[in-house]
Parts: sequence; C-alpha cells; structure tokens
Amino acid sequence: MIKVGFIGLGAMGSAMAATLARAGVAVRGFDISASCRDKASGNGVTVVPGAKDAIEGADVVVTMLPAGKEVLEVWTELLPRASRETLFVDCSTIDIESARKMHEAAHSLGLRSLEAPVSGGVAGAAAGALTFMCGGETAAFEAAGPVLEKMGRKALHCGGPGLGQAAKLCNNMILGATMIVTCEAFVLGEKLGLSHRALFDAVSSSSGQSWSMTSYCPAPGLTPSSPANNEYRPGFTAALMLKDLRLAQRAAASAGASAPLGAMAERLYEAYAASDGGGADFSGIIKMIRGES
Ligand code: NAD
Repeated sequence: MIKVGFIGLGAMGSAMAATLARAGVAVRGFDISASCRDKASGNGVTVVPGAKDAIEGADVVVTMLPAGKEVLEVWTELLPRASRETLFVDCSTIDIESARKMHEAAHSLGLRSLEAPVSGGVAGAAAGALTFMCGGETAAFEAAGPVLEKMGRKALHCGGPGLGQAAKLCNNMILGATMIVTCEAFVLGEKLGLSHRALFDAVSSSSGQSWSMTSYCPAPGLTPSSPANNEYRPGFTAALMLKDLRLAQRAAASAGASAPLGAMAERLYEAYAASDGGGADFSGIIKMIRGES
C-alpha cells in the first residue's frame, strides 16, 4: 500500500487527500487549522498533530498550501527529517523562484522533488479528475505517477524546475481574463433582455465557449458544481486568483513579456478583493461588474 503524508487540508487538499484515501492509499494528513483537521478526519485520512508526524514512513509527501512562503517553510522543516527514498511533491500554485528554491533544497539533501500545480478546482479534486502541470526531473515525474493518477486524469511533464508553475500561471491568467469577460457578457445580456439560459446555450455551443462558461458558470443554475449556485462560496477564492494574476505579471515582467489583458484582470480582481470579495469565489466578480459590490 502506498503511504502519503499530506500537508495542507484546505479546500483543495482535503478533497485530494480524501480521493487518495478512497483509492486505497494510506494518508496521514496535517493542517495548521484545527477546523480543517476536524473536517478532514471523517474522510478516510488519518489526521496527525504535526507535519513531521504526517511524513512518518511516507513514500510520497504532498503539500497543498497557499503560496511559496508556506511551501518553503514546510519543506525546510520536513526535508531534513525525511528518508532518502521519500519523494516530495508540491501541488500548490506558487511563484517560479520559490518553486526552484524548493527543488534546490530537496536536491541538496539528495531527495527527489516535483512541482505539480493543478487545474480542475475543488470538484475536480473530489472526483479525482485534476490535471497536473509538472516541473522537475523526469525520474521524479515518473515516480510520482502512481499517486498523481489516483488524484487526476492527466499529468503533463512541462519541463524542468519552475516550468510546471510557468504553465499553471499562464493557464490562470487565461482563466482570470475569461471569467471576467464571461461575467461581462452575462451582465450585458441582462441589460439587453437576454435570459441567462439563452446566453449559456448559445455560447456553450459557439466560439465564445470556455471552461468559465461550461464548467464554472458565474450565473446560477446552469452548471452543476458552480459556486454561483451556492451564493459564490468558494471554490477558488478571488484572493487566490489575485495571487495567481500577480504571479503571472511578475513572471511576465521578469521575462520581458507584455500581458496587458492579464494586467487588467489583476486590477479588476484587486478592486473586487478590496470591496470585500476576497473571500468569495472568483466567479463572484460578476456582482462587482453588475454594480452590486
Ligand atoms: P486553502 O486556503 O483552502 O488551503 C490552504 C491550507 O493550507 C489551509 O487550510 C491552511 O490552514 C493550510 N496551511 C497554511 N500554512 C500551513 C502550514 N505551515 N502547515 C500546514 N498547513 C498550512 O487554499 P486552497 O483553495 O486549498 O488552495 C491551495 C493551493 O492550491 C493554492 O496555492 C491555490 O492557488 C491552489 N489551487 C486552488 C484551487 C481551488 O479551486 N481552490 C484550484 C487550483 C489550485
């Protein structure tokens, strides 16, 4: 039986850890939040009191944390305590520099490491249907396969250290911009007298189709797992989307690339977060576009 130590049992981590447990993996999980630990313990995950307890006997350690700072702190604490055979996999979305530092820290101790940020949201995590965008050495990518395949449908090796995060940041820049323009289309449609259903049906089978429309529709009642059906409770918070858009702009500046639509999406999510939307799902930005928040 594969043994996994899972650190970070928030919206995504708790669903991913539960999916692993359902697939027959022995999962020991930890989160600094007591409420997250409580919620995770009913889902087949053995919840332990500290991160170091979670990695005891683990073949693979998975981290699913907010940002690079937390990932570097947790890896710095755990790497020296792990056995040389343990593979470290970070699934968080973090900045490219921190991802590279995290690999360096693992390699300096002779440990294998992989970055594997995900797409698919909480519904994808719960259904074992994530896509992993991996960066790191081929041997680490191959070794992670048996664990990644239990949590997702696709694992892509995007290149060496940092390039999984590069793919993820590009993806989320597209996602942020398409969510905003999808919300703008619904609000424009409302003002033109077009029903949500009519717009959804037309766009879903036309060239304006996107994941934001057909899997995560910002208007309620049109896609089954959309946070819009649940008062925009996350899901994926606007604060995390803002974090990713900032990371994409930082990456663009350091690479000398111009991304003006991504920059505009960052500014709009900044405004939404400042108007109290930071804790809501990122699709809730439709309320700001409608002039409600
Ligand atoms: P979340 O805030 O719900 O979960 C993060 C968890 O990490 C929290 O429960 C927090 O208590 C815990 N944590 C923080 N520091 C810790 C530490 N030192 N030790 C142990 N636990 C610690 O966030 P989330 O939505 O689960 O997202 C996690 C990561 O996945 C982020 O990088 C996010 O950008 C990415 N992501 C999220 C989604 C989504 O739909 N929510 C989708 C794709 C990627």
